[in-house]
Amino acid sequence: MASSHGYPFEKRHCLSIADFHRPDIESLLSLGEHYLDLSVQKSSERSVLAGKTLVNLFFENSTRTQKSFELAGRRLGADVINMNVANSSVKKGETLLDTAATLNAMNPDILVVRHGASGAPALLSQKVECSVINAGDGMHEHPTQALLDALTLRQAFNGDFGGIRIAICGDIAHSRVARSNVQLLNMLGCDVRLVGPPTLIPSNADRWGADVFHDMETGLAGCDVVMMLRLQLERMNGAFVPSKREYFHFYGLDRTKLGFAKPGALVMHPGPMNRGVEISSDIADDPDISLITQQVETGVAMRMGILHALSDAQDGIA
Ligand code: ASP
Repeated sequence: MASSHGYPFEKRHCLSIADFHRPDIESLLSLGEHYLDLSVQKSSERSVLAGKTLVNLFFENSTRTQKSFELAGRRLGADVINMNVANSSVKKGETLLDTAATLNAMNPDILVVRHGASGAPALLSQKVECSVINAGDGMHEHPTQALLDALTLRQAFNGDFGGIRIAICGDIAHSRVARSNVQLLNMLGCDVRLVGPPTLIPSNADRWGADVFHDMETGLAGCDVVMMLRLQLERMNGAFVPSKREYFHFYGLDRTKLGFAKPGALVMHPGPMNRGVEISSDIADDPDISLITQQVETGVAMRMGILHALSDAQDGIA
């Protein structure tokens, strides 16, 4: 299955978009699409991961990503274990590598890791026998979010990524979603922009392969898609914006600012949303323009596709 699109997916881990080439991405997106179609038909393929164990190891809080992986694993027939790190030995002082050794001894097949430190999943991947999926590491990467966003866009634009101009707006500096998305959307041929106040855009962002704008009017001009990001207050040392009210005034997406984009422009947000800070409720809840619910639904299917591809690669099914 993982090779049914003419290219064998042979990667052992899913740690960073930078590790993939376009054919890997196409294989993953096609598998994700396959599961999206299946879940629309309300059926599942419980044999794909039968007998395999998936461990969700989340050192940072998560609602949608953890549940999404849990559901994806179960729908494919895996045994799924959620490690509640808050109550685990990690809180008692165990190091990341000791945790890895303990987990390794339990012989999981796939480890899904979220950690506050950039690079933690990559480090773990060197210490365990199983496949590791990065479910978000610090400000570094969130590759499965970028893949599900790409699949959502592929559905919305009938596969034609080349025609899409997309503005990623808000707190770019602290966002792993932005870092993964810029790489992936560039690889797929989209025209990517970054929009936000100078304090929230890294000084080297112009070298990421995206045009940088500091005001919504010019940044959103001609855009087909506007992706809003949350102010990641938990990663900020000090104040990066004068106040949330002022931030919404200049950068929060409302009808007026959406009017700067192309007529009919679509809106995305990885969640969790802060309504009235980076996005107004009437935009977030308008089913004609908001893809936010589709992103969540597509997330489960995309993660099923990723799990399937890694499992086939483990089994040498190419
Ligand atoms: N859920 C995304 C992440 O884990 C975005 C966010 O938290 O704002 O990075």
